[in-house]
Parts: sequence; structure tokens; C-alpha cells
Amino acid sequence: MFPPYVHFVLDTLAAHGYAAYVVGGAVRDLLCALTPDDHDAATDAPPEKVLEIFGTAARPTGLRHGTVTVVCEGKCVEVTTFRCDGAYRDGRHPESVRFTRDIEKDLARRDFTINAMAMAADGTLVDPFGGQEDLARGVLRCVGSPEVRFSEDALRILRALRFAAVCGFSIEAETAAALHEKRELLSGLAAERVFHEMTRTVCGRHVCNVLLEYADVFGVWIPEILPCIGFDQKSRFHIYDVWEHTVRAMAAAPCAAALRWHLLFHDLGKPASFTLDELGRGHTYGHTAVSARMAAPIMERLRFPNDLRRQIETLLSWHDRQFSPTRAQVLRVLSEIGAEAFFDLLDAKCADNAAKRPEGLEAAQKPWEDARLLGRELLDEGACFTLSQLAVDGNDAVSLGFSGRAVGEALRAALDAVMRGEVENERKTLLRFLASGKKV
Ligand code: ATP
Ligand code: MG
Repeated sequence: MFPPYVHFVLDTLAAHGYAAYVVGGAVRDLLCALTPDDHDAATDAPPEKVLEIFGTAARPTGLRHGTVTVVCEGKCVEVTTFRCDGAYRDGRHPESVRFTRDIEKDLARRDFTINAMAMAADGTLVDPFGGQEDLARGVLRCVGSPEVRFSEDALRILRALRFAAVCGFSIEAETAAALHEKRELLSGLAAERVFHEMTRTVCGRHVCNVLLEYADVFGVWIPEILPCIGFDQKSRFHIYDVWEHTVRAMAAAPCAAALRWHLLFHDLGKPASFTLDELGRGHTYGHTAVSARMAAPIMERLRFPNDLRRQIETLLSWHDRQFSPTRAQVLRVLSEIGAEAFFDLLDAKCADNAAKRPEGLEAAQKPWEDARLLGRELLDEGACFTLSQLAVDGNDAVSLGFSGRAVGEALRAALDAVMRGEVENERKTLLRFLASGKKV
């Protein structure tokens, strides 16, 4: 049932007379027939006993919380002594932890019923809060009073949205009400933790329903979304308000962080850019640039990693740019933003279209689908769109008498000519091209 190294940890503790279980996420995943990423164990052995029993294989990684990491066959199992948490004062950390010999007390401190189950080495399930039934029904429910549990630790609010968005669970009514009620507590969390949980939610397959229902919760950290909710675009291209369009576009895109966050941001500027013409039609000229300006402080606030931030900025700046599915134009875009951003951009454009009025969708997608096919073909055939693929380099340009900035300009002109199909990417031809000083 568990991998051998996990059985080894449980069996070793049992051999010393202690109770030992796999707990939390791994039990949840196993009951859903998923392969757990990692296995956390819980035991009634005190941490110093766990250290003693496993000797050199044990690392005191979180003794204050009763956690010892056991390394076995190169894999790590976190072994935590059964504990019940003391009072929470800061909405994040329990002030004290007390060890207990009672697995049920340990399970009671866990956030949701589906995460509050333990499984022994022989497969026996300890499930005091009905986690198995909630899992079978796809229901997310707090252990105990949701208001109390979210007040103790506000991160649970975001974990709830994440489990709903990733696993498609529906949120039980009392838990759902407390998510709205207690949302302001999120402002006390560290930005990095908020970013991490929000990103998992944003990347969830079921993000659409979650962000429609709990936009106010996301709005605590990203109040820029609030004016989008219910904002009627008065546009014949749209059947949804700005927020619903946004989250439907997100859900229509592959589950990748840059792409999904980009789509969350791409229309934030619409309410501020909105004008009505004399015929009562809405327009939002230049809104994507406004959205890009609004996204910058959000990414700062949530401490987005720099590389993700740059990917999103590229997508925002290209979102509205038009190009045709021709070799020359596709190569130009590949050359300017790279292959990864190119395919993300096409995904973003198609997802955006898919969340508008359904009439004419096929025609709207066609050029982007053609560009995608062509892009793949060009990559497969090794078509040249970067300077490093060019059959000549800076030394060649210098030998031909170019110097300083002219070297780069000459190579760039050669690359442009190759991408336009005017010149072969072949050394002799390109040397001749450079020597002719064409377009330099
Ligand atoms: P994942 O590993 O996919 O993030 P998980 O549920 O395993 O999901 P972990 O952070 O690995 O999450 O936590 C392991 C277990 O610890 C959870 O299943 C839950 O029982 C408990 N837990 C984690 N975070 C909290 C929390 N903030 N409040 C209460 N219990 C928690
Ligand atoms: Mg886990």
C-alpha cells in the first residue's frame, strides 16, 4: 500500500512499541487512487525517541513541533509526534504545541476532514470526522467550527480555495460562509505564502467556479479585481461581465502559472478604460496597457518570482498584437519572445476568445491555431530565428570589416533576411550578404 521505505519507518516504530500512521495528504491521495508526492508519518513516540530509534538516518528538522525527518533509501519521511496545538495569537502559528498519545487529538488539529485521516501499515483507517465520506462526495469541510479554524490560521482560507480549485470539491455551506466572513484575516499573512497558495488555485482545473464564488477572498490581496465583478461590457463581442470573462478565459487555458496569472490580469484595466459611444456600445480602448500597469504593483505586492513576472509582462505586452500565420511573421514573433512565450501567447489568445461570445469562435481561433501548427513545424525543422542559429557569427562580421555596434546590426540584418526567406542560412551565402553590406 505504501512504498517500502514508508513501511520501514512505520514497522520500525511499531517494533519499538509505538503507534505509527501515515497521515494527512498522503492518505487523502491514496483514497482517491492518486500517487502521493510525499508521505508524512505520525507517531506517539516522543521526538527524542524517534531520533534515538532511527539514529544516523534521523534529522531533527522541526523538533519544536515534534518533527524528525527520517531518510531511508534516499527518500525522506517526516515523522511528527501526535500533538494538539495550543492557542493561536497571530493567526498563523500555535503559541505552544503539546504532545499527546491520542491520534484522534492529532487529527482534530488538522484543517479539513479530508486531510484529517490516518492510515496504519495494515491499511486500517482512523477517520473520526467523516473524511472518507466527504472525499467520496467531493466535499471540503473544516474539522470543527470553520470560523474558529480560519481565525486560528488564515492560511486555511487559501488552502480551502486551492483544494476546491485543484480537486473540484464543493465547499460545505458553513465552511463556505466562513471563507467570506473571515477573508480579511488574509491580510496578516506573509505575501510569499499567499502567492504560493493563490498560484495553486489559479492553476487549478476548477478555478472558474472558485473565482466566481470567492472573488472577494482573492480581492483582499488583489482589490484590483473588485471593479471587474459584474462589470457589463456592453459589447456585442462579449456575453459575460469582465470578471466572468476573465475566469472563464483562465479555465480555458492550460494549467500553467504564467499563462493563468496573465489571463487573470489581462482585463483588469477594462473598468477604468470604459467609454460608451452614442449608440450605447461599450469600448475599452487601450485597456491591455492599463492592465499591464495595474499588474506590476500586484506582482510586487505578492512577491512574484522575477522570472514569472517577466513571463507575464511579455504576455501582457503581446496580448493584443496581431500577426498572420505566415513563416516570416511567426519566425519574427519566435525571435522576439522565444518559443515558450510564443506558445503561451497563442494559448492566451485562444482562451481569451473562448470566453467571449460563442458565435464566430471558430473563425477567431483559426489564425492562432494555424500559427501554432506552423510554429511547431518551424521548430521541428530547426528553422533559424536566433542569432546563435545563424551560420555566421560576430567574428565573421569583424573579419569583413564591421566594428562596434555595426557587428550586431549586420548580424541582425542577416537574421532578418533569413527569417523573411530572402537568404539561405548557409555560411557562404551569408558571408556574401554581409560583405554586400546590404541593409546595414
Ligand atoms: P499538499 O502536500 O498537496 O500541499 P497537504 O494536505 O499534504 O497538501 P501539507 O502542507 O503537506 O498539505 O500538510 C500535510 C497535512 O498537514 C495536511 O494534510 C493537513 O492534515 C495538515 N495541515 C497542513 N497545513 C495545515 C494548516 N494550515 N492547518 C491545519 N492543518 C494543516
Ligand atoms: Mg503534503
